[in-house]
Amino acid sequence: MENITIKINGMEVSAPKGSTILEAARLAHIEIPTLCFLKEINEIGACRICVVEVKGARSLVASCVYPINPGMEVWTNTPKVLESRRKTLQLILSNHERKCLSCVRSGNCELQKLCKELGVTDEDRYEGAKTPSTIDDSAVHMIRDNSKCILCRRCVAVCEKVQGIGVIGANQRGFNTEIGSAFEMGLGETSCVSCGQCIAVCPTGALREKDSTDAVFAAIADPSKHVIVQTAPAVRAALGEAFGYPIGTNVEGKMVAALRRLGFDKVFDTDFSADLTIMEEAHEFIERVQNGGVLPMITSCSPGWIKYCEHYFPDMTENLSSCKSPQQMFGAIAKSYYAEKAGIDPKDIVSVSVMPCTAKKFEIGRDDQDANGVPDVDFALTTRELARMIERVGLKFTELPDEEYDAPLGLSTGAAVIFGATGGVMEAALRTAVETLTGEELAALDFTEVRGVEGVKEATYSVAGMDVKVAVASGLGNARTLLNKVKSGEANYHFIEIMGCPGGCVNGGGQPQQPGSVRNTVDIRALRAKVLYDEDAGKPIRKSHENPAIKELYASYLGEPGSEKAHHLLHTTYVKRKINEI
Ligand code: SF4
Ligand code: SF4
Ligand code: SF4
Repeated sequence: MENITIKINGMEVSAPKGSTILEAARLAHIEIPTLCFLKEINEIGACRICVVEVKGARSLVASCVYPINPGMEVWTNTPKVLESRRKTLQLILSNHERKCLSCVRSGNCELQKLCKELGVTDEDRYEGAKTPSTIDDSAVHMIRDNSKCILCRRCVAVCEKVQGIGVIGANQRGFNTEIGSAFEMGLGETSCVSCGQCIAVCPTGALREKDSTDAVFAAIADPSKHVIVQTAPAVRAALGEAFGYPIGTNVEGKMVAALRRLGFDKVFDTDFSADLTIMEEAHEFIERVQNGGVLPMITSCSPGWIKYCEHYFPDMTENLSSCKSPQQMFGAIAKSYYAEKAGIDPKDIVSVSVMPCTAKKFEIGRDDQDANGVPDVDFALTTRELARMIERVGLKFTELPDEEYDAPLGLSTGAAVIFGATGGVMEAALRTAVETLTGEELAALDFTEVRGVEGVKEATYSVAGMDVKVAVASGLGNARTLLNKVKSGEANYHFIEIMGCPGGCVNGGGQPQQPGSVRNTVDIRALRAKVLYDEDAGKPIRKSHENPAIKELYASYLGEPGSEKAHHLLHTTYVKRKINEI
């Protein structure tokens, strides 16, 4: 690629043609601050925090959208630039509810950090009228507090451009502008799918999940309750970020130790029920292939994807696997098999999950998710909520020893842990389906064609004399593209994996938030996914059907995959929804 040489702060910098000033500055190890900018998602140059001086330009320019030209001279730190950034921040703060002491984002808020870095203090505040702002708590999974919104529109862009949903936008005009849903509807009245991608990119405390931590602390303190917890595969790949570990650190052992010290009676692993999901899903797939069932079969692990399918592709709900998600399968087994084994009344079990996901908060309240007459799962916490619980009780996370999950619902295989990355469910299912169909042991377990962060992946595998065509999509915009091809006949598959969040659960809406400066320069999805693939590679058992705890569950309780009992506990039904119907 052709390079261009410019001068930044008097130093020569060479950057690829087409780069912006922001990108060229990074190559010179200069971080120009940004607020609204999200690479390839929200490149609108609106907030004016990233302004710089360019020789010959009549005014300061927004470096995030301004392309470099040969011979250009740029200054990123003149008094004029610094004063402009401070003024912009002061104006934002003049319309901001400054409640840092009680704000969920305090400590990792991009606005707060910028104020500190640029030396903006309370003394030089502008006083004046504030835009009347609303708090929307109508959705099951999240709260919007517009008194802390800075109108950067990152949430709007991710909902529209990445997820292809577009249920939020700017209402009103000028000083009265507010982000919300059309016609001032509550988010809970729209066809929002609860994915939480908007929360993940919000730089401030304007968006947050609904918090269940107090309810979980109360359950733990209740001596009449047996409180168990399950942790999803992707949580171990990101929780450490909340405690200063680099992105891509596996903190499974410390997480288990922390959960035990928080007071949970048993610490179990959703990986166990991911293996169970594979047993049921692979069996269902083989059944459909052999008996002329509806194809392509589409995975059903991701509740954001499920709600999206119900709203936007209701004619394809028959394609969905009838398997409950691993979270819900775990809950159903915990309150039946485990309850019987442990001699505990299911009504006395409080089942808590820790998920990388906000849509799980919606999922636990869906119809048909209470196989034992009580909810399969009582509380779904996000990874962020778990981090807050650990902080609240004063646990020194980094100093904790590594501990192991409890048996039997904590035993799992390598196939299960890769569920947290896009392509992981497909790969895990293929390991079991291929061996079941051929009756032979696989020579190699890695299906590398379905790995990686690309939005859509395709592969064809020759299995027992049949060409099995598979596809994997993550992010709902990509899912829409793929499904439209299937509907038009342009593409033809037997099995499709879809995850609601781009990159899969590792990049879920409930994971620790990383600032724009990191999101724009680091592939968070790939780093977190590597944690899971490394764990899989190091596991002694890497196929779900070889998990001894799962074999015992079928032998002593469920019978065969797809049995009547398995169907009652582990499978579900779907709803054909309209757009803007909850
Ligand atoms: S959003 Fe940020 S600046 Fe605003 S109150 Fe919360 S922590 Fe403070
Ligand atoms: S949760 Fe997802 S669908 Fe709902 S507003 Fe946020 S990004 Fe859009
Ligand atoms: S809610 Fe957050 S992401 Fe959306 S515009 Fe406001 S500050 Fe930006």
